[in-house]
Amino acid sequence: MKNMNKLANVVLERLLEHYDIKKKEFLNNYSTPFQLLVAALLSAQSTDKQVNTVTNQLFKRYPDPQSFAQSSPEEIEQYIKSVGLYKTKARNIHNLSKVLLSEYNSSVPKTISELIKLPGIGRKTANVVLNDWFQINEGIAVDTHVQRISYRIGLTKHTNPEKIEKDLMLLFPKNSWGILTRLFISHGREICLARNPKCDNCFLSDICKKNIIRKNKSSKREKNNITK
Ligand code: SF4
Repeated sequence: MKNMNKLANVVLERLLEHYDIKKKEFLNNYSTPFQLLVAALLSAQSTDKQVNTVTNQLFKRYPDPQSFAQSSPEEIEQYIKSVGLYKTKARNIHNLSKVLLSEYNSSVPKTISELIKLPGIGRKTANVVLNDWFQINEGIAVDTHVQRISYRIGLTKHTNPEKIEKDLMLLFPKNSWGILTRLFISHGREICLARNPKCDNCFLSDICKKNIIRKNKSSKREKNNITK
């Protein structure tokens, strides 16, 4: 575990050197924790850019839980048609607004255990709201970039988001949990792409498990060719 902590420290240090998380295109079109909750819910299987566009009109028409609750899933659908799974998302937004209105006096709860009981809210979305709005580091938001990159680097042996989250929580200091997701997302968008990662230009290539295995394999192949 000591070595893994060392690895995590170096990864964090280098990511911080390379990415300015404030400049990146993340979810940025919200002015209340509730709006961030809705934006984060919409971002599943959609890009942050798409969600920022959609929420422009959406939050003008529905700024709070009350306005969503008074509407209907079908009406909400009209505003979010360009994002993936819009029918399910419209239904969840409508239902979670009703729950917030009746059980939380329209405010957003501040614990993961309460948040994940809301319709359509999983740990990832809950962590985004806690980290980004409330600055509460209860966990780490594991999205597809965090999932892919932490596995490739060798920070986890798991592919299941909840197990990855547990592994990362043991490796990274608590005060970095909130920014870690944004750092991984930046790296996943620029260098560690899903299909063709740019390993030869990556500042983590000397410590990345996937790259080290790749290099070992190609030098073995070269050796075999020479001895043939
Ligand atoms: S070396 Fe390749 S696989 Fe490893 S983090 Fe960099 S881009 Fe991703």
